[in-house]
Amino acid sequence: MSKLDSVVKDIAAEMRQRPDRGTVADYIPELAHVDPNAFGLAVADAEGELACGGDADLPFSIQSISKVFTLTLALGMVGDRLWQRVGREPSGTPFNSIVQLERERGIPRNPFINAGAIAVTDVILSGHQPREALGEILRFMQFLADDPSITIDRAVAASEDRTGFRNRALANYMKSFGVLENPVDFTLGVYFHHCAIAMTCRQLALAGRFLAHQGRNPATGLSVVQPERARRINAIMLTCGHYDGSGEFAYRVGLPGKSGVGGGILAIAPGAASIAVWSPGLDASGNSHLGRIALEMLTRRMGWSIFGG
Ligand code: GLN
Repeated sequence: MSKLDSVVKDIAAEMRQRPDRGTVADYIPELAHVDPNAFGLAVADAEGELACGGDADLPFSIQSISKVFTLTLALGMVGDRLWQRVGREPSGTPFNSIVQLERERGIPRNPFINAGAIAVTDVILSGHQPREALGEILRFMQFLADDPSITIDRAVAASEDRTGFRNRALANYMKSFGVLENPVDFTLGVYFHHCAIAMTCRQLALAGRFLAHQGRNPATGLSVVQPERARRINAIMLTCGHYDGSGEFAYRVGLPGKSGVGGGILAIAPGAASIAVWSPGLDASGNSHLGRIALEMLTRRMGWSIFGG
């Protein structure tokens, strides 16, 4: 067994025993049914090894982790013009906050808070039917993970659509400033559905590989984005990927990362690994509680923090 494999298995075993598991999100009713004791970890390293522990093959709702991939797609479509519609500064506010939009004329602070991700989704949607835009996003995930079996959990999407009053408020507010081009219901429909993509830790770790390797998938040698773009996406993940918990995540884990309220985190160790962890219980900022602790242990034991040692 390699060092990586034994570290991953150790962490998964230890996490299963911990009593402190955080709180499963229930504002999307369908997510409240998820087993709080689930824990999965998968690490795809630079040598092509994939180390898995715990429930690494159970699919979960990736939720806001999808925002990394919609950002990548939107940058591919419109390049730096994207930054006219969304900023790239940390917000210091919760993921679903509306306060900053009033001060900044409807321009969201960054692509990873809900308002920002809705604006990015609107960019991807322009010139397409919602079904086409959604298909594009799903196919991109399948391509990156090299796995055509990845699907959208329609029950989760419908559940969020029924209860997504806050996101409707954010979208309508941005629309009033002219920041969204498409009908609000179309944009939100695509947004709710890409958040409801279900993936396993194994699939997610594979999908993130291009961010760890200067924009290239190391298994196929295919370039997904230019090195500069991968570097910049990682920078935004580091500064904004955990909302108002981004500073704490950088302090403790020391890697670019993106969380979702499904309890998943995608973390990138540049040059070394793409890491996916899943534990459904969340902390007060809406980030996976044990997911963060597991990543802290992993980076310490592998020496992967971008800040050294
Ligand atoms: N779909 C969720 C929402 O919009 C995503 C939030 C999250 O994962 N932080 O509320």
